[in-house]
Amino acid sequence: MSIQVVPQRCPQNHRCPSVRVCPVGALVQEGHAAPQVDESKCIDCGRCVRSCPLGALRE
Ligand code: SF4
Repeated sequence: MSIQVVPQRCPQNHRCPSVRVCPVGALVQEGHAAPQVDESKCIDCGRCVRSCPLGALRE
């Protein structure tokens, strides 16, 4: 797995904007918690990393 979620950088009180940009539905968010990456779906495209304004996702 190359995409990592950094919970300390995520405010966890909002709808993660990166979930919408994932082309394969690999980024999932339960409520307003920090999102998780489904490794079985992720194709490492990096779109979620580029779309997070707080740098809470990294490759
Ligand atoms: S790297 Fe691409 S496929 Fe993987 S979680 Fe991010 S947006 Fe989705």
